[in-house]
Amino acid sequence: MVTRSDRPRRLRTAHPDYEHRDVQGGAARAAVFGVSDGLVSNMGLILGVAGADPAPAVVRLAGLAGLVSGAISMAAGEYNSMRVQSELLRYELAVEARSLERRPEAERDELAHIYEMRGLRPQIARKVADALMRDPETALETHAREELGIDPQQLGSPLAAGTSSFFAFSLGGLVPLVPWFVTRGMAAVVASVVLGIAAACTVGVLVARATGGGWLRAVVRQVLFTLVPAAVTYAVGNLVGIAGV
Ligand SMILES: [Zn+2]
Repeated sequence: MVTRSDRPRRLRTAHPDYEHRDVQGGAARAAVFGVSDGLVSNMGLILGVAGADPAPAVVRLAGLAGLVSGAISMAAGEYNSMRVQSELLRYELAVEARSLERRPEAERDELAHIYEMRGLRPQIARKVADALMRDPETALETHAREELGIDPQQLGSPLAAGTSSFFAFSLGGLVPLVPWFVTRGMAAVVASVVLGIAAACTVGVLVARATGGGWLRAVVRQVLFTLVPAAVTYAVGNLVGIAGV
């Protein structure tokens, strides 16, 4: 009898590097995109309001409101999508677990067939399947991995995903807002743009590292994503300010 705690993590340690990179890369990538969203969205909002040249307190208020509402909506969206996804996976797992219980023979044959398709000789595939079917937990983990492509130990945490999106978005949204606490007018606009470009470059480099793409392209794209919407909202804010709406 092998218990949960002393059962060796055979499946997980089979390819430790792959598993590690996959999981960590996913979280890091989500955080980088959260920062990028906060930066792009609050940069546009702040420069849009600043374009009408109001008192700096108005820009601060708009920037703070944008930061908080954006972070909450990001977190809620992330939480919901993770929640739905992990519920679906849990449902599929339950179906698989029931099937393992009700028709173990058929499930063993199914597993043996999978290993045969991967190139193992029928007798060996059969032996491997037999061995993996012995412990119910290992059996479920194996079927989940081979048939559903998931690791039942790592369905992901909706709360953790939501929380990290909240902070990532807030971090990005804070960048263009900071200057408005220390200066005003054109100086604050210029400082927001300069900080925004610096942050966009950093995000671009991190995106390139997370996706394995070229960094120059990622940086240019990120800077454009940040500056173009901000330029548009600034122009709109400026026109609205002049018209005195
Ligand atoms: Zn199965």
